[in-house]
Amino acid sequence: MSMDEDLIKDNAMQRARAAQYVLSAVGIDFSYENGYKVFENVNIDVGQNEFVAIVGPSGIGKSTLLRILGGFLKPDRGMVYLFGRPIVRPTPDIILIHQSIVTFPWLTALENVMLSLKVRNVSDDEAEKAARNALEMVGLQGFEDLYPKEMSGGMRQRVAIARALAASPLVFLMDEPFAHLDELTAEGLRQDIYNILFSPDTPLKGVVLVSHNLTEVVELADEIYVLNNVPATVVGKVHVDLPRPRNPRSEEFNQILDALYNYLTPPKVRKL
Ligand code: ADP
Repeated sequence: MSMDEDLIKDNAMQRARAAQYVLSAVGIDFSYENGYKVFENVNIDVGQNEFVAIVGPSGIGKSTLLRILGGFLKPDRGMVYLFGRPIVRPTPDIILIHQSIVTFPWLTALENVMLSLKVRNVSDDEAEKAARNALEMVGLQGFEDLYPKEMSGGMRQRVAIARALAASPLVFLMDEPFAHLDELTAEGLRQDIYNILFSPDTPLKGVVLVSHNLTEVVELADEIYVLNNVPATVVGKVHVDLPRPRNPRSEEFNQILDALYNYLTPPKVRKL
């Protein structure tokens, strides 16, 4: 068999494997234009209805990886697949939620959520119905007419999540969504978020959360990928099958935290 035929066969096998996952990133290498190599051979799989978290030291490449997973940045090598379909540009099926809360101050909660439906070809009535539905999912029924300045930080973040949900994506990519909230508000939203995202009413099939908060990821994730070293790669993968809601004071919870800490020793710089 020629080398070309081998390559085609490899790609077909890779694609067939990726088709079993909601999202699959295979063999990702990435450098910024200034030549800084962020990743070498990063592999991430998100299974059906799986909540995946990515942790790692600050500056290791977590936000960069989310942008690659969403098709916003093109890897130098490797491929991202959505149900086996190569992702080479942003798609409405994958939504990226940034850390900063983006609600428009001059629009009510309902209008903020309807905004994400305006670009789609739906009637105003349908858009309003979908927006009300999404606000109900995030627990904001009855608050549709409030303006952002009348809401707490947690409520604004819920509006941002409702807006993302209303667009009916298959995958949520979340970059430190709790980082700007005070601890009590963050705790309340963390407790709700899993049920919101995986409620039977949403079309979501997978979630990827980036966070530097290890307790947060053990509380939320099914699977935790640890990035470390320069260039970064996946140095550890920890499966969490504790029942929800999870108790951060339990022994099992702390054993998982210890496992994560072990992977997060100071980054090693590998010779290139
Ligand atoms: P994290 O989210 O883990 O804090 P980032 O993905 O933001 O890390 O950044 C990874 C690395 O890439 C950092 O060292 C950062 O300085 C560098 N970086 C980020 N954006 C750019 C860019 N546009 N050009 C060059 N380097 C960048």
